[in-house]
Amino acid sequence: MTDTTTRFAPSPNGLLHLGHALSALTGFRAARDAGGRFLLRIEDIDLTRARPEFEQAIYDDLAWLGLTWETPVRRQSEHFDDYEAALARLGGLTYPCFCTRKDIEAEIARSPAAPHGPEGALYPGVCRHLSDAERRRRIDAGEKYAVRLDVGKAMAIAGPLRWRDRLKGDIAADPASLGDVVLARKDVPTSYHLAVTIDDALQGVTLVTRGEDLFHATHIHRLLQALLDLPVPDYWHHGLIRDAAGIRLAKSKGAPALRDLRAAGMTADDIRALVAGASP
Ligand code: GLU
Repeated sequence: MTDTTTRFAPSPNGLLHLGHALSALTGFRAARDAGGRFLLRIEDIDLTRARPEFEQAIYDDLAWLGLTWETPVRRQSEHFDDYEAALARLGGLTYPCFCTRKDIEAEIARSPAAPHGPEGALYPGVCRHLSDAERRRRIDAGEKYAVRLDVGKAMAIAGPLRWRDRLKGDIAADPASLGDVVLARKDVPTSYHLAVTIDDALQGVTLVTRGEDLFHATHIHRLLQALLDLPVPDYWHHGLIRDAAGIRLAKSKGAPALRDLRAAGMTADDIRALVAGASP
């Protein structure tokens, strides 16, 4: 197969760690072994957290690891109009959500039967039930709102869906397990789910390689592909690298950055060996 296109899609919110090295190497090798293309995408929709020095560090660290990628690099913050156009096409399958995080937590605490998914409590649907008049009134009053997907309505239109994971095989999509996800945030005209789905299609990605922490997100991405008539790539959700205590590496939990490991004397070969040994 020569038309394999993979990508690595980091967010420039911090320095890359070993988990990122595994993702990047998985995508790079899958493309190389198939004689295909490897792309890099900078997922910087969160303008308050993205920083140019982290973006530069991504390029430097990947080059140090021996990776090359096709240019131009797609930077999501330069393509908000693509996401807005997709959102407009979803029209009646979305609704404005005025809830704050606190409102949502309070509602979940109040209703013991609040729906739960693999990642915890789901959005309890408060704003799904607002009347059109009430929505209009609150928008006109200048209240900030996110845009959510009415997942029940969307699934009724899309019907049953499937996707293929290279490790786990044929999967029945279960978008309801994530609930009415946010497609555009209050502060950003898109969300991770929308931007990643649009970009993988626009960039011609045929194999999405990423960590299994994003396995469930694929249920929603598959639904968005059906609603927006986008091609369906294959997926390869690789295992996660854990520290000695079994905790998944994360920037927020102080995982050592690749450049710290480099400063401590490790070579790119050492990193490749570590990643190979750690990945299940
Ligand atoms: N930007 C996401 C992250 O850094 C990865 C998105 C993806 O690979 O789909 O976790």
